[in-house]
Amino acid sequence: MSIIITKSEFEIIKKHAADTFPYEACGGLLGRIEGDSRIVVKAYPAENRYGKITWDSFEIEPNDILNMDKLCVKENLDILGFYHTHPNHPAIPSNFDINASWPFYSYVIISLKGNSPDNVIDIRSYLMADRISEPVEEKVIIK
Ligand SMILES: [Zn+2]
Repeated sequence: MSIIITKSEFEIIKKHAADTFPYEACGGLLGRIEGDSRIVVKAYPAENRYGKITWDSFEIEPNDILNMDKLCVKENLDILGFYHTHPNHPAIPSNFDINASWPFYSYVIISLKGNSPDNVIDIRSYLMADRISEPVEEKVIIK
């Protein structure tokens, strides 16, 4: 499995990550599944309900999920997963991330060390099918 993110959508994610630094940004990844690949054609920056409380927790506003669903119906896309940032921390799922995860979805984590899109230092994606096994990393391709 790999997740392919278009360059233009990755720019949107990086800008959201930088604008929200040092707090966690989160959003949806909308696209299509083709064979073994998940192709993200739309990044949907969302509101983090945890806002400025923590660095290791995020929860997307229900209204944002609803809007993502509407967009998917309109543009014939699926919600493939979610992205969130780890400001000043590595792109590894926290215990909170693992416990809050749902099966199927790709969880893309962006590590950054400053408030510019150039400060993004790592991007990784994980599938967390159940809360007992270790998260399974999937390859991230930006193109
Ligand atoms: Zn996290």
